[in-house]
Amino acid sequence: MERSDLFDRHRAVLPPWVPLFYDVPLEIESGLGRTVRGTDGRDYLDFYAGVAVNTLGYDVPEIREAVERKMRTGIVHSSTFYLIREQIELAERIARASGIDDAVVFFTTSGSEAVETALLLATQYRQSQQVIALRYAYHGRSFGALSVTGDRAWQAQGFSPLRVAYARSGDKRYGGMSGLDDTAYVHACAQDLREIIATGTPERTAAMLVEPVQGVAGAVPLIPGQLRAYADVLKQHDILLIADEVQTGWGRTGRYWGHQWHDVTPDVLVFAKGVGSGFPLGGVVGRREVMASLPGASVSTFGGNPLACAAAIATLDYLDEHDLPAHALSMGGLLRERLEAGLKDPGVGQVRGTGLLMAVEFVDPLTREPDVSRAVRVQEQCRHRGLLVGLGGAFKNCLRIMPPLTVTAHEVRQAADIIAAAVDDAPGGDGPLAMPTPSLN
Ligand code: PMP
Repeated sequence: MERSDLFDRHRAVLPPWVPLFYDVPLEIESGLGRTVRGTDGRDYLDFYAGVAVNTLGYDVPEIREAVERKMRTGIVHSSTFYLIREQIELAERIARASGIDDAVVFFTTSGSEAVETALLLATQYRQSQQVIALRYAYHGRSFGALSVTGDRAWQAQGFSPLRVAYARSGDKRYGGMSGLDDTAYVHACAQDLREIIATGTPERTAAMLVEPVQGVAGAVPLIPGQLRAYADVLKQHDILLIADEVQTGWGRTGRYWGHQWHDVTPDVLVFAKGVGSGFPLGGVVGRREVMASLPGASVSTFGGNPLACAAAIATLDYLDEHDLPAHALSMGGLLRERLEAGLKDPGVGQVRGTGLLMAVEFVDPLTREPDVSRAVRVQEQCRHRGLLVGLGGAFKNCLRIMPPLTVTAHEVRQAADIIAAAVDDAPGGDGPLAMPTPSLN
């Protein structure tokens, strides 16, 4: 395979910090169901779904019809200075689904803008610029969102509008914690948070931001009881809990929201990605008094755009009618079972995740150090065999696996078999390779 002219044009005109997958980057030209076709003439089973965006897969008639119906009115955009019927209907639905009492919704165009809004609201409401986030967290690319991102590879800048402290994630293998069982680890995490609040932060902290399963970090779920324990500590200090459900929302983890695995209700919930079936839409849903706390006016010109909202309503209709959260749970279970059975290679560190937000981690069999090179090569082999998966993780040594929630059992088996064959085709022991930064492409 040869790199196309489009790759040279990409490199010439887009910034060097926008990474591309694969030695020969792929251009996707069409899709149907869970299969996409590349301009290389090949069909691929897509287990990355545009980074967990294409919840229903490709070319879904219900979405196409909803969008075409709206297009035929001639109104793609009007602005939030006018009433937008679809936006109000969608807000009502999301407010109900959030489980937050008397919830209010604000729409944005992306996850970053939604995180930014949540931070704006929390800092204003609590009159504090102190925030707590989790190690390995990814919350987006804008100024505030970057400053709560606990993954150095994605931090992109060292200047922060916020004071940030980092609490422990759901990965207990580091920092001398690996010997603890779940109960002891959760206890240690809550103690650690108490210590952060007592000693490392000013008197008031605005909020703690939590991904229930850390997506970019390589599908790292919080340990059972961990979020509950954190929420209890936060409550004692009136610190807001913000659930970043950008990746975990809309059924991906097998529940409607990822935080529902933990028996907590956040004060504010951030959403984006999967809600719009590819139309750019994100937002924040939260308690009325927090949502109302901005002293000045604030709008997002494109936020809650009529076309994106029409697509989102159709997406949520489909999600409910087909009970996709339950389907994601059973397909996620099957995927995990098949991967665990098929991946006996000592270089496979963990198969982890929740529902259809999964990762396979590669390590050196002897030292258990992250094996970045292996992950890169296995991803290439998967493509070679007709399967698209992502690459990432806090240590950059993970395949990221998140198919559309409509995936079938047959496709799950196919994908698991391809991954097992790709692991065999790409043996370990190639020596360390730095993270696939843009300069390596
Ligand atoms: N939060 C989380 C948990 C995410 O995974 C992402 C995107 N990967 C974002 C926020 C930012 O979303 P966006 O890229 O739409 O700005």
